[in-house]
Amino acid sequence: MSRISNKPMDNDKAALKAKQTTWLPFILILLSSTIFVIVFSFNSFNSMLANIKEVHKSRVAFLSNNINNRINSYESYIDIVGMAFDSGIRHLDESYIDNKIEYLVDIKEEIIGLTIYSESGVIVASKGFHPYDISNEILNTTKSTSHSVLGRSYFDQKKGLVMVMYKSLKINRETYIISLSIPVEDIFNIQKSTSTSDGINSITLWRENDYYFQYTDRGKDDQNIYNTPVDKRLVEESISHLENQSGKKIDILKSEGEPIVYLANNEERGSFTTSMFLSDYKLWLALKSNEQHFNQKFFQSLVRYISLYLFFIIILIFIFRSIKNRRHNYEIQTQYLVDHDYLTGIKSAYFFDRFLSKNIESRKEINIALLYVENLSTVNALHGHLIGDQVLIRISKVLVEYENMDLTVARVGGNEFAIYSSLASFEYIIGEILASFSEPIHCDGSYIEINIYSGLFLNDVKTKNLNDIKRNANLALDKARNEKLPLCRFETSILDDFIHKSTLTEELKLAVERQEVYVCYQPKVDQYGHIYSLEALLRWSNRKLGNIPPDVFIPIAESTGMIHELSRFVLEVVIKDRLKLSSIYSYCPNVAINISALQMFDKSYFSEIENIVRTHSLPKGALTLELTESIFISGVDRISQSMKKIRALGVLISLDDFGSGYSSLNMLASLPIDEVKLDRIFVNEVSDNKNKLLAIKNIIHLCNELSLDVVIEGIEDEGTEKILQSVGAKNFQGYYYCKPKKLKELTPIT
Ligand code: C2E
Ligand code: CA
Ligand code: CA
Repeated sequence: MSRISNKPMDNDKAALKAKQTTWLPFILILLSSTIFVIVFSFNSFNSMLANIKEVHKSRVAFLSNNINNRINSYESYIDIVGMAFDSGIRHLDESYIDNKIEYLVDIKEEIIGLTIYSESGVIVASKGFHPYDISNEILNTTKSTSHSVLGRSYFDQKKGLVMVMYKSLKINRETYIISLSIPVEDIFNIQKSTSTSDGINSITLWRENDYYFQYTDRGKDDQNIYNTPVDKRLVEESISHLENQSGKKIDILKSEGEPIVYLANNEERGSFTTSMFLSDYKLWLALKSNEQHFNQKFFQSLVRYISLYLFFIIILIFIFRSIKNRRHNYEIQTQYLVDHDYLTGIKSAYFFDRFLSKNIESRKEINIALLYVENLSTVNALHGHLIGDQVLIRISKVLVEYENMDLTVARVGGNEFAIYSSLASFEYIIGEILASFSEPIHCDGSYIEINIYSGLFLNDVKTKNLNDIKRNANLALDKARNEKLPLCRFETSILDDFIHKSTLTEELKLAVERQEVYVCYQPKVDQYGHIYSLEALLRWSNRKLGNIPPDVFIPIAESTGMIHELSRFVLEVVIKDRLKLSSIYSYCPNVAINISALQMFDKSYFSEIENIVRTHSLPKGALTLELTESIFISGVDRISQSMKKIRALGVLISLDDFGSGYSSLNMLASLPIDEVKLDRIFVNEVSDNKNKLLAIKNIIHLCNELSLDVVIEGIEDEGTEKILQSVGAKNFQGYYYCKPKKLKELTPIT
């Protein structure tokens, strides 16, 4: 369970997150596309409006051109009339003139009347329709200009809207004014010049000098419109609109003679007026746009865009829905994989963690058992991984059967299972489960013994924190494994020990740096009481915890790797102390240092010893390394190689604690050693135990045969020394001679 680091999310939370993460891009696309459509519509509205304005401008230009051309052609026609009478009119008789005019009127069919006036305004001849007499104003204006002058439009019931056009002409040195009556729409070709598809609503030709209409669409419904001038106020307003919107004065606009688009009085957005001044005839030409036409056109394209947009959104919804569904299915699959163990199919560590958290939250009783298959790696090594997997599957099957009894089981590590239940009989059930694994498992033709340890956390320890519960169960399991107990129930003392050990570990890390460690020496003496060797023993005096015995801190240093630093420290101190020892004893005794199993595999430690031997020119036998027999568990051959190399340097090797554990007499013969140290336990109560004494005698004898020195540890009194001497023991170590002492406390034994 300790391997679990990141927890999977709750199902609901995962689904919600999937939903959020799927729909978020959709909402973003929706928002951005909506903004795009709005901006696009706005732009297209503006560009359509600009476009239609350009069309209207060209229409106005075209129309004005048309009007100018038509009037020019009538002016030319009047010139022809003049040429027809170039020999003078005065002497001609009336019938001749009538015939001539009739002929002239006939050749230009749109002309419905022709009148020739004398300079004073008297009709010389007239043919066809002649709506009104020439006014003095027109007479004078006509005479003052070489252009033709347009008279007001006049509505006649039969002829429709008629306009009279005047031009003064010199015929045979006399001035005449010739007028032509022309139907307004025909001459200006107005209807043909415009088309409703351009969105033109109305056309107006307005006379600047007298404010009357020359032509207006409204005239169709109201012929009287030609009889009254336009309200002066309206004209002024229109002019001010024109000036404001174009930013130019009216005179400049008139002189430029370009089409101008502007919003006339009361015009809404989408409608506008395009005007142009025809300076030759002082006419304002104005085209008013058809607002409805434009709006309709815009609306049609808007409907097209919106339908496309909606179509796009529907497709998008469809796509995102399918993404969401796929994602959801994927989440379910992933969740399943996360919640289940790939090999056994039972619940996973992730699931178990989550499950425990929920139960803790709902204040349920929490009982957990951790089951550890201790020999799984051995099974794998001996039978192969497939069989190892089969064993795990078989164990899971057994455990799953207990789920009927309201137990939840999970595989929480390679060879670790976890069981939860709120039942009061939990410990009993776990005992039963462990008992069911006492029989070997039959797998692929072989019977496999499985060795399971269990750590228990029961609800009576009132912890309501997931990590604490997991840690406590793990501590109980560690204890079960270390002490080879099938089942260990968590107790607060286990946690206390753990905390103490943790504190020790933390403190030990800084022990060398803080100079809390130092070396004591304990002599080895021969049969004459002569000190021939000193064993260096490490001491640790911590500022908070006091003196901690090596039996406690050496295993911690070994398990945390700090032993390397400590061993180097001892080696350095011992080398430094050698000269002082020789001054105490007046000779240089051998110094023995203890090394742990780990050092035997540490190449750098060997090269350090080699270095020291060379640089200090240590004589042969000056240094002894004491190894405990436990290091031979990992294989005698491998260690033997290292030991041979050490001995080649002239360093002696002592087999420490002989007789305390794995000792075998065979080892004595086969190992490259110089000394055997019989363990303290071995010599305890030797006076009362004849067999023990006999065994010691035989070992001493064997060692003598093999030329090995024998040292007997733990001599605390003279009696023990005497008994051991009686069986041939010559070398001793123990409190009887000297306790381990600091260098400065050492005194020579006489
Ligand atoms: P060891 O190597 O067997 O060391 C002998 C232990 O027996 C020492 O305990 C010593 O104080 C104790 N002893 C000596 N004479 C007597 C006696 O007459 N009666 C009794 N009851 N005890 C006696 P210490 O110093 O507590 O060391 C315990 C163990 O710690 C050592 O056992 C050794 O295995 C380990 N150790 C000590 N220093 C070092 C070191 O520098 N490196 C390594 N790797 N291990 C060390
Ligand atoms: Ca020792
Ligand atoms: Ca020993």
